[in-house]
Amino acid sequence: MTSVEDSGVEAGLTTGQRIHQLIAELYPFFRSITGDGVRATLNVIRKHVPLEVHEVPTGTKVFDWEVPREWNIRKAYIKDPDGNTIVDMKDSNLHVLNYSSPVNLKIDLEQLKAHLHYLPEYPDWIPYRTSYFKEDWGFCITYNQFKSLKDGIYEVVIDSTLEPGHLTYGEVFIPGETDDEVLVSTHVCHPSLCNDNLSGIAVCTFLIKELMTRKLRYSYRFVFVPATIGSITWLALNKDRTHKIKHGLVATLLGDTGPFHYKKSRRGDAEIDAVVEYVLKQHDPQNEILEFFPYGYDERQYCSPGFNLPVGRLTRALYAEFPEYHTSGDNLDFVKPAALNESLRIYLRVFETLEANKTYVNLNPFCEPQLGRRGLYSLTGGNVHGKDFQLALLWVLSQADGSNTVLDIAKKSNLDFTTVRLAAEKLVEAELLVEKDDR
Ligand code: ZN
Repeated sequence: MTSVEDSGVEAGLTTGQRIHQLIAELYPFFRSITGDGVRATLNVIRKHVPLEVHEVPTGTKVFDWEVPREWNIRKAYIKDPDGNTIVDMKDSNLHVLNYSSPVNLKIDLEQLKAHLHYLPEYPDWIPYRTSYFKEDWGFCITYNQFKSLKDGIYEVVIDSTLEPGHLTYGEVFIPGETDDEVLVSTHVCHPSLCNDNLSGIAVCTFLIKELMTRKLRYSYRFVFVPATIGSITWLALNKDRTHKIKHGLVATLLGDTGPFHYKKSRRGDAEIDAVVEYVLKQHDPQNEILEFFPYGYDERQYCSPGFNLPVGRLTRALYAEFPEYHTSGDNLDFVKPAALNESLRIYLRVFETLEANKTYVNLNPFCEPQLGRRGLYSLTGGNVHGKDFQLALLWVLSQADGSNTVLDIAKKSNLDFTTVRLAAEKLVEAELLVEKDDR
């Protein structure tokens, strides 16, 4: 496996800059829900982490859906009545309606207008539009371009293919001490859009690199799938293994500078819900927690009632609720290295908290044990951390009846998670406490 440095990233960059650089490398690729853009994207990620690529044939039945025909595109342009090229996919891959069928036509302005998409409220931005499941063709242009169109005969060319092929997705598995899995899912189908979702792809890549250096209790599975049809396909192919997923997150919208938003799993009371809420609120009270709702990204599939997996969605911006969403305004300037790095750190803190969020049982539950005799009780501590630690010992002994996690005790006691965790570890060393599963 090659490291980031080997794949062309200059030394001396911060982690946030490296994540941003990976986004910039992937930005020009022409991605869709199928086709060579996704393959090229996964090939770049594979230079950083041991990614397995899966190809699922067109026509494969996946629950109520079917893997669609594979779409690829070579060129697309519009020539005005004077023969000048006025729209060209070479300038932005957002210019083509994603999944357009091939066309080669000479049409008048009125006919052309029926196939144009633009945003009057943001006259310099190109919208991102798709037509995955309805055969259509079209172009997306700025409103300023639209306003400058004159009467006459236009030449429109979309050189695309829509043929039997495959749906491509990637998967990275990082084994831990147990088979219990943490699932992280990110979508790889959007073309040149940075927050949605090159930010998720790049942050996940760097998360994998970091997790691979750590000793882990859980196993981690990262899936890089086209949105909706990709997660449906993954779930269909892995239906018998989903019971291993103990916690999960949908990772997207991680490069803007706004606060974090966590959308709870459908269950609402999963451990991942409590852990992310705690981490986000500790980090910044402005971060927001939302109850589950059945639209948005791939959490819809993971949380469908047949699966009902403990999978939430951890983003910065909210789905569809920022002006740049699904426009050319979601570009390389919109995502910031510092924000990307902060997102990486928040995800790592969530994983660290999950890893340490064990449940313990007090082995000496009949009255308090003598802590002084075991060197655990010191009146000379004096400092706040020392006092907190003494309190944490008492809280853990009081609450460790096999029903409270470390996080439960931290919340009840208003003590820091790390302090409670440390107290529990000291009590285990002193043989006053045992992990519930080890009993
Ligand atoms: Zn999107």
